[in-house]
Amino acid sequence: MNNKAFYLETFGCQMNVVDSERIVDLLGGIGLHQVEEPEQAGLILLNTCAVRDKAVRKAYGHLGRFKPLKDRNPELILGMGGCIAQQEGKQLLEEFPYLDLVFGTHNVHRLPELVQQVADNRVRCEETEFLDRETRLQLFPSRTGKEAFTRFVTVMQGCDNFCSYCVVPYVRGREISRPSGEILDEIRELAKQGVREVTLIGQNVNSYGTKEEEISFSSLLEQVNAIDGIDRIRFTTSHPKDLSDELIDCFGRLDKLCKHLHLPVQCGSNEVLKAMNRGYTRERYLEIVSRLRQVCPDIRLSSDVIVGFPGETEDNFSATMSLLEKVRYAEIYSFIYSPRSGTAAAEICDDTPAQVKQKRFNQMLTMQQEISRQTWEADVGTVQEVLVEGESKMGEGQLFGRSTWNRIVNFSGPLELAGRLVPVKITKSYRNSLLGELIEGH
Ligand code: SAH
Ligand code: SF4
Repeated sequence: MNNKAFYLETFGCQMNVVDSERIVDLLGGIGLHQVEEPEQAGLILLNTCAVRDKAVRKAYGHLGRFKPLKDRNPELILGMGGCIAQQEGKQLLEEFPYLDLVFGTHNVHRLPELVQQVADNRVRCEETEFLDRETRLQLFPSRTGKEAFTRFVTVMQGCDNFCSYCVVPYVRGREISRPSGEILDEIRELAKQGVREVTLIGQNVNSYGTKEEEISFSSLLEQVNAIDGIDRIRFTTSHPKDLSDELIDCFGRLDKLCKHLHLPVQCGSNEVLKAMNRGYTRERYLEIVSRLRQVCPDIRLSSDVIVGFPGETEDNFSATMSLLEKVRYAEIYSFIYSPRSGTAAAEICDDTPAQVKQKRFNQMLTMQQEISRQTWEADVGTVQEVLVEGESKMGEGQLFGRSTWNRIVNFSGPLELAGRLVPVKITKSYRNSLLGELIEGH
């Protein structure tokens, strides 16, 4: 390759963020460096998401935007990875004659060789086969020395839940858990490098270890809690059906565990939950919430909610609204149902008009926005412990960090505070962040 610069775009969830970090490391290993402008690159990669149609269309839109670059410069290598690549495979090469390389979710480690092959032989290639369990266990991405105070650590991959609407089990493969020794070693190493907060990630971290006879997820948390230098622990994503009492108790017991839990409910109607194959009822979910609040009274919750699942009635939707009113999430990520081919729900007759779905969605958003506003408004006047991450977008002398509830806090202070936990008095609440003042003496 003459031009050793690459440009990488990432769509979707934290798993893709971690895969992209790995891509940067791997390509660095063959002498390539990342650039911010696609026009400067000799290699352009898209790491894609297939969870909803919107994300898929966005990725294809971006791919199309790169075609003129390829027309002007035939040397340019264009590649697509992630969940769309996994799902579509070779077909992508047929559909997009200007695409050179397609790599699947289990094949990221092969990227350096695949890029070399394309560059040296001017062939187009595709590698999307799933790997066996043993091989995958060897290939968990581990962190390198990127400077940051907060990092994601992969603890498991894949998903065996087959929620009826979801494409993830098909594009990420079966669930596997990473050996706990390896996870703990990585976190110790990160702590040595200055990392203060780790977020343990996976599609369903609560079922960590169940298939491998590994330690339970709560034991893993306990061991991470004991690592010197780590001040904060978070984890995501949790599935309510696998949230054990032991794990709930961790929120009352582990001092480093942040008081925030993302616990996707998806909907509040038992009929729809069943059709979604979620494995819990509304009552069970509410019981979990109340237990969490018993052990940790100031815990804040967030959630994912799907509106317009096939067959959702007005009553089903009202059940979701009443659940949101009851739980009072600090925030939710809401989505209009998007049929995914190959999933069970795609076969169910869906006769709710799109306008009705949109109306429900808007109604939900309006209600939740008010709940969220009230939640964050209540922080004004309180003192929050903030892990300082660095200079804020507001410029010199302005710092930013997060509260235990994962809320961005901006305040003025010296940059030397980066990486430390400091007390900040909250003075104002905005839509996406808080403003505060550093308490004197820090
Ligand atoms: N493993 C995680 C994340 C899955 S994808 C979990 O179980 O929570 C993230 C969110 O996308 C899901 O929680 C769900 O709310 C949403 N989602 C998944 N498939 C969808 C679909 N077909 N249509 C609309 N939203 C979907
Ligand atoms: Fe998808 Fe359900 Fe697995 Fe989450 S738990 S990734 S929603 S199948």
